[in-house]
Amino acid sequence: MRSSQQPTLILGGGFTGLFAALHLSHRNYPRPIILIDDAERFVFKPLLYEYLSGEMSSDQVCPLFSELLEHRGVTFVQGCVNNIDLTGRRVRLAEGTEYGYEYLVLGLGSTTGYFGVPGAQQNTFAFRTGEDALLLARHLRDCLQRASQTSDRAERRKLLSVAVVGGGPSGVELAATLGDLLPQWYEPLGGDPRELQIVLINHGKMLLEGDINSKLRSAATEALASRRAPVRLQLVRRWSRCSRARWPFSPQTRINFGGWQPRP
Ligand SMILES: Cc1cc2nc3c(=O)[nH]c(=O)nc-3n(C[C@H](O)[C@H](O)[C@H](O)COP(=O)(O)OP(=O)(O)OC[C@H]3O[C@@H](n4cnc5c(N)ncnc54)[C@H](O)[C@@H]3O)c2cc1C
Repeated sequence: MRSSQQPTLILGGGFTGLFAALHLSHRNYPRPIILIDDAERFVFKPLLYEYLSGEMSSDQVCPLFSELLEHRGVTFVQGCVNNIDLTGRRVRLAEGTEYGYEYLVLGLGSTTGYFGVPGAQQNTFAFRTGEDALLLARHLRDCLQRASQTSDRAERRKLLSVAVVGGGPSGVELAATLGDLLPQWYEPLGGDPRELQIVLINHGKMLLEGDINSKLRSAATEALASRRAPVRLQLVRRWSRCSRARWPFSPQTRINFGGWQPRP
């Protein structure tokens, strides 16, 4: 017979997993709760733009699970889930540890999607984690620094060009953020912000197509155009047509918001 003390396991500490854990804790759930995530920090994704810009700190945007769950009666385990045995009710982590459970909550989320475009993953930045934001910020600052030091116009144009692929809400918000941020970073280096080129590339006929925010389309379009470095919108029929050889210009920085795909 199964012990009444078998825990409820929550796999994945994104919005789904973390809030399930907090909700159960709030309701004084009688069974032990274990939350498993392969990272030690929760990522509050809607604030990643502020993390990129330096307006918010790592502790604000990516707080430790151990701190968020302190005194909540939830045990946090950092580990990578690599096997779920539904019949035996056991979960195995890559580290070798196994956990039995009575109830299982799956919140493992999704990963960045590339629509099968060859080279897309290798040649674009993702923007989903704190590390992604830091990596992108370092890369952009490096491009601006190099642009401010080169007298080769073609090279400078390339270094100052950024393509954001995907005109959903996250792509729009990042492009708009960069439209304000890059001039702020470039000017103190002695650069001319008018040379910055930010292009939002979207497959389909319009921005925010099929999105819950589609009624904000004209406000979003205006907001993009009125950034300090205006964001140009480029609509293409298919994202595959934007594969490497077909970029409409030659940006040093390509950021992918093309879509999500289920985690394998
Ligand atoms: C930049 C950005 C801005 C966004 N802004 C908004 C917004 O303003 N409003 C909004 O509604 N939505 C927004 N979203 C979308 C929103 O963040 C997602 O819908 C939400 O994060 C999905 O939550 P989730 O828990 O299902 O998955 P995820 O957030 O992907 O969480 C999954 C978790 O599972 C963990 N995990 C995955 N595999 C394993 C494994 N094998 N072992 C252990 N752990 C694992 C991951 O580390 C992760 O912590 C934004 C997304 C991005 C990228």
